[in-house]
Amino acid sequence: MILSGAKAYNFLKIDLLDKIQRLKVKPTLKAIYLGHNSASEKYLNNKSKKLKKLNVNFDVIHISSPRKRNLESLISKLNNDKLINGIIIQLPFPDELRKYQDDILNLINPLKDVDCLTRSNLGKIFDPKTSIIPATPQGIISLLNFYKIKISGKKVTIVGRSNLVGKPLALSMLSKNATVTICHSKTKNLKNLTLMADIVILATGNPKLFGIEYFCSKQTVIDVGINITPDGKIVGDVDFENVKNIVKNITPVPGGVGPMTIYGLAKNLIHLTTIQTKL
Ligand code: NDP
Repeated sequence: MILSGAKAYNFLKIDLLDKIQRLKVKPTLKAIYLGHNSASEKYLNNKSKKLKKLNVNFDVIHISSPRKRNLESLISKLNNDKLINGIIIQLPFPDELRKYQDDILNLINPLKDVDCLTRSNLGKIFDPKTSIIPATPQGIISLLNFYKIKISGKKVTIVGRSNLVGKPLALSMLSKNATVTICHSKTKNLKNLTLMADIVILATGNPKLFGIEYFCSKQTVIDVGINITPDGKIVGDVDFENVKNIVKNITPVPGGVGPMTIYGLAKNLIHLTTIQTKL
């Protein structure tokens, strides 16, 4: 079966719309976009379209030649602005700022950290009852729930260990009673580790790297990767056209994890706006 994130999102957005309508304010989310990156522009475009349809005030602050100090003062200004409920910085950072990435992300007020990337919010993932986890892991779990794919008791192999996807996803799956294996670029015999899993999640950023040799029937394959080919097409980490014929379930790219990430983002925004309006 093709696990359509677009279909799941269209169903789940009814609940989001209802929750947003019941908030005391129309939520406002600011995205900071640094430098130039065509993939980031595509993500931001999609976020903008979907979030506006959910009645979220969303806009992008683009800094084409960002400097650390300017970025710090911008974050401080947004943190102090009571009309702003959420702040995200579109990843990846440009090369020249990458070494400051964690420190800069950590300047965002955790109460406005909709991407859940500050140390304080990442730490909350250790609490199985937490309501805020990064958007992509949250979206993946919601997609599996939507298609009634069991997580508890299953073997899950995740390829990728970023703070954005792999690590928080591993902890979330663990709290849902999966047995989790995390792989990365130094993992040996990767194929053995994907082949043994019930659910395989790929988040490496390598176009079509994972062909049929990594998978077998009865598996659910979740492709997080979003890669832009030289001719401008969007492809995942998985060789979808071939792999879809041999596995039980698979997400397409685009239209798989992407829309569900926006679902996770909107859920986090609703959660944090609710807390802010109670303060
Ligand atoms: P990062 O670059 O931060 O992390 C990539 C991870 O993949 C690293 O842990 C790296 O290992 C591992 N890796 C890279 N190459 C290999 C390989 N050949 N074999 C095994 N492991 C490998 O990326 P992100 O986590 O931020 O994003 C991953 C992908 O997901 C990207 O394509 C991104 O665009 C996409 N993405 C999609 C989203 C969506 O909504 N669909 C949301 C977020 C991201 P090591 O740690 O050793 O370097």
